[in-house]
Amino acid sequence: MDAPRNVNAYAHAARADELLASLRVSGATGLAESEVAPRRERYGPNTVAARRDASPMRLLVHQFKGAVVYILAGAASLAFYFGETEEGSVIAAVLVINALIGFLTELKAARSIHALRSLGARTARVRRDGRIRVIPAQDLVPGDIVLFDAGDAIPADLRLIEATGLAADESTLTGESVAVEKQSHPVNAEARLGERASMLYKGTGVTRGSGSGVVVATGLATELGRVTRLVLDADPGISPLERHLARLSAQLGWATLAVAAMIAAIGLARGGDPLLMVEAAIALAVAAIPEGLPIVATLALARGMWRMARRHALIERLSAVETLGATTIILTDKTGTLTENRMTVRRLCTAASDIALDSDAAGAAAVEQAAAWIRDPRAGALLRIAVLCNDASLDGGDRASGDPMEVALLRAGLRAGMNRAALLQGRPLAMKHAFDSSKKMMATVHATDGGFVYAIKGAPEAVLAACAQVMDGDVTLRMDNRARAEWLARADRLAGQGLRVLACATKVDTTQDRDPYAALSLLGLIALEDPARADVPPAIRDCRQAGIRVVMVTGDHAVTARSIGQAIGMVGEHAVVVEGRDVARTIATGHPALSDIEIYARVSPEEKLLLVKAYQASGQIVAMTGDGVNDAPALRQADIGVAMGLRGTDVAREAADMVLLDDAFPSIVRAIREGRVIFGNIRRFIVYLLSCNLSEVMAVGFAVLWALPLPLLPLQILYLNLVTDVFPAFALAMGEGEPGILRRPPRSPKEPILGRRQWTVIVLYAAALTGCVFGAMAVGQAMGLDAARSVTVSFLTLAFAQLWHAFNMRAARSRLLVNEVTRNAWLWGALALCTVLLAVPPYVPAVAALLHLAPLGAGMWTIVLGFSILPLVLGQAGLWLSRSFGRSCTPAECKSTAECKSSSRTNGFRAG
Ligand code: ATP
Repeated sequence: MDAPRNVNAYAHAARADELLASLRVSGATGLAESEVAPRRERYGPNTVAARRDASPMRLLVHQFKGAVVYILAGAASLAFYFGETEEGSVIAAVLVINALIGFLTELKAARSIHALRSLGARTARVRRDGRIRVIPAQDLVPGDIVLFDAGDAIPADLRLIEATGLAADESTLTGESVAVEKQSHPVNAEARLGERASMLYKGTGVTRGSGSGVVVATGLATELGRVTRLVLDADPGISPLERHLARLSAQLGWATLAVAAMIAAIGLARGGDPLLMVEAAIALAVAAIPEGLPIVATLALARGMWRMARRHALIERLSAVETLGATTIILTDKTGTLTENRMTVRRLCTAASDIALDSDAAGAAAVEQAAAWIRDPRAGALLRIAVLCNDASLDGGDRASGDPMEVALLRAGLRAGMNRAALLQGRPLAMKHAFDSSKKMMATVHATDGGFVYAIKGAPEAVLAACAQVMDGDVTLRMDNRARAEWLARADRLAGQGLRVLACATKVDTTQDRDPYAALSLLGLIALEDPARADVPPAIRDCRQAGIRVVMVTGDHAVTARSIGQAIGMVGEHAVVVEGRDVARTIATGHPALSDIEIYARVSPEEKLLLVKAYQASGQIVAMTGDGVNDAPALRQADIGVAMGLRGTDVAREAADMVLLDDAFPSIVRAIREGRVIFGNIRRFIVYLLSCNLSEVMAVGFAVLWALPLPLLPLQILYLNLVTDVFPAFALAMGEGEPGILRRPPRSPKEPILGRRQWTVIVLYAAALTGCVFGAMAVGQAMGLDAARSVTVSFLTLAFAQLWHAFNMRAARSRLLVNEVTRNAWLWGALALCTVLLAVPPYVPAVAALLHLAPLGAGMWTIVLGFSILPLVLGQAGLWLSRSFGRSCTPAECKSTAECKSSSRTNGFRAG
């Protein structure tokens, strides 16, 4: 299919007003709603299928590919060739049923993943019918007027109409990592993509400034669609775990084929019946394939994603689910994650006054208080600058938008009778220097009669360094080093109370183009309160118990950070705090130093990136939070990049593995818990499934080698694999996890899902299951059972033994009767269902004939139940032994080797 044509391939060279006219739209009012539908009809939706959702057809076809299907098909053909029509048809039917089950489960998983993704769908701010509206980005059409700010992802190709201090990161398209300046004037028609300063392209991000633009291309017609035409952030939705498991099933399949051929050859060489040997080979081939493995894994991961979403953590990449459980350190920011981000102005400090504000005052008290602020002209001047140098807005009443700190400043101003809009009428905004996280300041420039007034606010040390004088009412004092030190000490005292401190300064000039951060006059300090979140202290305690270190990495002042750290119980009085500028030096001194630091303050985004790398180099699995545009590199680098859903920018979201819908720290801890539960569940059902399959291989293999009658027939094995294996395995995958899962250290990141220990227990369990089959067979033969009855007994013994074996999947440290397996209601349901599905067939003649089963008498049932219970007894004894002899973890679900031996975390870091 050809991409739809660009509306105007030379939009970058056209004047904005000409382009608007050719697109039949007014920049001031935008498109009329009635215009949208016809354009959408003509140009299609604004999507480039960045993440391709698998179509049902593709999923169905996918089911018939792969080693498992080939082996089953081979077995069926072999059966037909030897005249075993009934068997061949059943294997073929099983193949189809298996594919259908796989298809339905994967379809369901794909749908739920799709639904989750649409929860996080991108939006765009557009002007339509003269009003500003937020719409899903995919509904944009050519001609729409889009508004954007720093941090926004560009939703379509835009020709700029207005641009203020605008720069964009176009690395996705051009590979150029330096942000490019943008403006609204036409550029040369021949300009290459990277030189088209008048355009913004879909998939790129605004790093600085703000503006508006008209949509000139959507969907596949955009540069992004044209260049890639397919998949940009190609995430096929398959996690490494799923890939690993699919490979494992295939490898097991081929290995079995080899074993089957070998055993059949040995049998034939010994002069065995060729038909019987072929039958045994078929039985072996179907026995070894854990048909349900990849399906159950997909389901477990998809269910995990849902459960996390319910707990406010949206997983952007499936692989994050696995990594989460192994997290060893969380680098968290402070504002909004550890604190409420509900700010109120508490103090105004000027050269001659220090006014405390009681924000809870109401009615007459509030009016009186506000009047008091105004009576102090110095405080009034200070607050006025804070209101002018502000990006937030208050739409009257309680509705506010923008940075909560700036909103708090506007609210304080309003109470003192200062309305930003009214102030701006007398001093219109001439220029804005957006907040710069490396300078830690922002500035606005306002036109007045005689020239321009500059309004500056920012971190005290930054503003003080830029001040040459201090305003004390109408008097101007020189700012010398002593005065600067006194002001800094004042700021420190406020920060010591956990307050966030800002300094405000001003200057007047005849031009608006002067450096805003030089030769300033200080007006004073404003201290704001941002209470610590009440739910953070328990979450910090959970982390400590779980062996996960929590380190605060904040842009705020060291003293404020420490005070908040103490308030949430994260650090003691003597916490080691390192300032951002010392980060590089600290890293250079080596890892022991890093492991003592609990807070990093005044950290820039570049320093965040250095920190992530340093902790990773020391073997940690790092989860890192971030919200700003500049945080994207650190988020990408972290093992788990965590973006904030409420206050985060699109760019940060796109770089992250997980988005917190409520921005709260406890949600990270809950997600980590969930990650551990999922990893444990996956390991549990894999150990379960593989031990069951291996027992079937061993039973058939030994029978052939020892020239015994087959204890299981091919169709019986298929029945086992489709019934007794899949339902309990599925139920194990749904488990809620142990209550104490956060009381243990994280698993070693290097630990594979199936390590040597897991393989050992798989073999031991399989041996126990096989032993009970031969035991039952021997007793049956001693009782003089005929061939049909004997095979019925051995088959049912193994089938029931596999059911009870599910209880061996509990953790060794858990209690015998009440544990995470016995508490799993799904498992009881699965066992009840499977019991019926096993106990009934021998008495239903048609099914009994197909499965070669004979009705059982009381004696036969006694053998079946007696022997089937043995692996459970042996398994529980093994668990008891492993617990008594120093292993604190389960064979099926051992978390880490380090943990087996001791309870402390290694890696050079202490636990919590
Ligand atoms: P955290 O990183 O934990 O969220 P933070 O919000 O304080 O903390 P930054 O946003 O990097 O981190 O801000 C650093 C400092 O810059 C703040 O402590 C404050 O002094 C100053 N600052 C923040 N926002 C503004 C703003 N809009 N205008 C002026 N100064 C600001």
